[in-house]
Amino acid sequence: VTRPALSSWQQSVWDNLRGALDAGRLGHALLLSGPALLGKAEVAGQLARRLLCTAPAADGFACGRCRACTLLAAGHHPDLSSVGLVERDDGRLKTEIGVAQMRELSAWFALTPQLGRAQVALIEPADRLNTSAANALLKTLEEPMPARYLLLISSDPQRLPATIRSRCQQLQFHPPALAEARAALLAGGVPADQADAALAAADGHPGLARQYLQDGSLTLRGEVRAALAALADGRLRAASLAAEWTQDRPDLRLRLAADCVREFGRKRAASVADPAGLTALGDFPKLAAWFDRANRVRAQLAAPLRQELMLAELLAEWRVAFSRPVPRGAETQGAG
Ligand SMILES: [Zn+2]
Repeated sequence: VTRPALSSWQQSVWDNLRGALDAGRLGHALLLSGPALLGKAEVAGQLARRLLCTAPAADGFACGRCRACTLLAAGHHPDLSSVGLVERDDGRLKTEIGVAQMRELSAWFALTPQLGRAQVALIEPADRLNTSAANALLKTLEEPMPARYLLLISSDPQRLPATIRSRCQQLQFHPPALAEARAALLAGGVPADQADAALAAADGHPGLARQYLQDGSLTLRGEVRAALAALADGRLRAASLAAEWTQDRPDLRLRLAADCVREFGRKRAASVADPAGLTALGDFPKLAAWFDRANRVRAQLAAPLRQELMLAELLAEWRVAFSRPVPRGAETQGAG
């Protein structure tokens, strides 16, 4: 049986969980929280498998061989339930977990576990429970039943009502130090130069760095960054850049642009020289205002007809706010 490979920051949470389990102190409701992309759901899944396995191994993991483990691996164990954001009629995800989902969950918890050992429910993202759903969940939390486990996963736990948080055993994931993050990427087979570039772009966040490497957005980020510099230098027009971005993943480009702006701000704060010279731009209020504006435009990009216009306006604002003299020798293609 191959054991799941946990990164160091997952392992420390797992060790806490296992310690609680072995000592009989594991709560009926757990809240796994911490920044996105640190592998919270993986650890919750591992705990769920361990709780449902009928013959857990001596090393604290699920055995991987019993009927429960076989059903879990196949993705249809009757005593595991996952609650999350469901699709609306138009195929997009709802933004909230509704009360009907919580009522269904509490009815399910009232059933006898089919394989006899326990029932485990995963709720993610738990911070998206709407008010009535949270109230319904609270009732379930107030009447804990033996062998029923609720695993709440959230990257924004402050959005959960305090009444829910206080009834959960809390396990927090912490972003690792840079060396630890780098070691995890290298252990995952990422070449050192790529790991360093991705970690620099992701501000040391290993999960984000991995995502950048997997979806190819590291290269795209370089392009977005160069385009913002060219716009500020007057080498690129806002309208033509908007037309280009509209054609290809506008939302991702805008997210990367916002990321770059955050990075400029951070480098300015630390007085770190920026190779593209962009840290010499503007001031914090201007950067922060543009960052907010970019995020608002991102939220509105769902209306495709206005996409190009909104992008053009946003990029023109960048050009106006951060315009600087054309560097000596640079080609001028006209001002935006
Ligand atoms: Zn098993």
